[in-house]
Amino acid sequence: MFCPECKSEYLNHIKSCPDCNISLVETNTMSEPQKINWIKIAEFSGTVYAEMAENILKDNDIPSYTKGDFLSTAYNINALTLPGGSVKLYIPESFQAQAEDLLKNLIEENE
Ligand SMILES: [Zn+2]
Repeated sequence: MFCPECKSEYLNHIKSCPDCNISLVETNTMSEPQKINWIKIAEFSGTVYAEMAENILKDNDIPSYTKGDFLSTAYNINALTLPGGSVKLYIPESFQAQAEDLLKNLIEENE
């Protein structure tokens, strides 16, 4: 068994981590692909800038995804048609510095 919090390994009959006080997980789940820590790099007031940003990132081999605000996602409405609708742009944390540099001009323009 394995503690997802402190990464300690325990014998199979132990069910929770005495240090973190949380349930242990099966050790074999460790073989899943490395977990990516996604962070919000920017927020755009509409899909146009968000798509431009995504394209810039794609050109530089930086993975990204966008997420609209709750309303536009729930009702499947294009964020552009919603007053105040915003699109958040997420990238893996490891690309933060590079992405900030690439999107600097675009983000300033959007503000
Ligand atoms: Zn622990």
